[in-house]
Amino acid sequence: MELWNFLDELKEKLNDLEDIRTENYNTIEQAINNAYLEKPTWNKVDNVVAVFADLKNSTQISNRKTKRVYAKFLEYTGYPFVKINDEFNSEFIDIKGDGGISLFSGKYAEVRAFLAAETFKTFQEKYVREKFKNKYGVNLSFGIGISKGDLLVKRIGRRKGDNNFFVWAGNAINNAALISKDVKRLSDKTVIGIDESIYNVLNQEKFRNYLVYSCGCPKGEKVKLWKKHYVKDESNFKYYKIESDWCETHGEQYINAVLEIINES
Ligand SMILES: [Zn+2]
Repeated sequence: MELWNFLDELKEKLNDLEDIRTENYNTIEQAINNAYLEKPTWNKVDNVVAVFADLKNSTQISNRKTKRVYAKFLEYTGYPFVKINDEFNSEFIDIKGDGGISLFSGKYAEVRAFLAAETFKTFQEKYVREKFKNKYGVNLSFGIGISKGDLLVKRIGRRKGDNNFFVWAGNAINNAALISKDVKRLSDKTVIGIDESIYNVLNQEKFRNYLVYSCGCPKGEKVKLWKKHYVKDESNFKYYKIESDWCETHGEQYINAVLEIINES
């Protein structure tokens, strides 16, 4: 191997890419389909909503027994993440290790992304987290972030063995990841954080009673479900978080009421 030549060539190649050049696309699908290997530009789509779900405390799982439990847990979460996001018409879903990405665009993408995240959270809390806690004594939960912005995608890797993958950049994914990391410090349960542009859509008059205020269970008192927070780093990024799951009595009714509003308008 000619080490220095090899590294020099790599460096040359990266110099060519120093200025990030982008090519605009109208849909996520077009941007992905046109992200071929060795293409120098990033493919860009505006107004994409990204859901970023990331497991909390995955590094604490260290011994052999918990590693097996952990593997089982990933099976219990990866499949539901795909199925649930699919149900709300996500345009791209990817599972990476102990996290997942789901991308939405178009009409009411903010609302569909939230319905998907809230449904996934409810599944985790009601069917998975309790089970793993009771059976194995391991508390596994997610930090979920949702954000809207531009999306940049590129395909990196090599052709041999189909060894290539998408890399993502842009505000939608970056901020969703930022929020998902920050909400993990707020609770032992799965928490969702959303940026202000998402919150403003959920807080529109037609959605507010279903998505911002509680149904009133169990005491008949309707309360605001969201609390304002700031990411604890130099960005000080503002977001809103929710800890509640779909109500067993009203959840289904609320989802369908929201879907009806979306489909009618
Ligand atoms: Zn209720």
